[in-house]
Amino acid sequence: MRIILMGPPGAGKGTQAKVVAARLEIPAISTGDIFRANVSEGTPLGLEAKRYMDAGDYVPDEVTNGMVRDRIAESDARNGFLLDGYPRTVAQVAELDSMLESSGHAIDAAVVLTVDEDELVQRLLTRAKIEGRADDTEDVIRKRQNVYNEQTAPLLEVYAGRGLLVEVDGMGEVAEVTDRVFAELDRVRGEAAS
Ligand code: AMP
Repeated sequence: MRIILMGPPGAGKGTQAKVVAARLEIPAISTGDIFRANVSEGTPLGLEAKRYMDAGDYVPDEVTNGMVRDRIAESDARNGFLLDGYPRTVAQVAELDSMLESSGHAIDAAVVLTVDEDELVQRLLTRAKIEGRADDTEDVIRKRQNVYNEQTAPLLEVYAGRGLLVEVDGMGEVAEVTDRVFAELDRVRGEAAS
């Protein structure tokens, strides 16, 4: 399957991406994780990305798109992948469409995790204490929520219009949320098979 996992910062995308992708035996491709790995290795890509990440802004589309294009061309992604945190802008949607078109594939589902706003901020502040991410300070958290609402939330309409949007309640225990994701993906797979 080719799946997009969406949702605001703090919705639990990273956690669910790893569990869901492992169970489907496809790679979880997280643009945030790839950027963070580059930042800690001090690569030119990491140096470029870091200034945007630290400010809570999106890394420019040209940088992000090229990185995803290279990653999904790798052999482990041949039979499917789960994209965590990409696409995040309208321009990225267009680019992903063209990447898929050139390989003759299509997205099967765009899963969005929904979590209420107070819970999101609480989760991110807790994560800040545990993981010490540079972009988990209160100001940057707020900035990232705004950027999400302005630039990424409109993408939900795009995928809804294509009949691919699947909304999953992201509140509660990790395993409960995973069960809800699979209930929806099973439905999508069932519909595709019938
Ligand atoms: P995440 O781990 O998904 O929350 O991403 C952390 C940060 O990496 C974001 O706040 C952005 O600065 C950057 N980033 C991750 N994915 C993207 C993307 N698709 N487009 C632009 N920037 C991104």
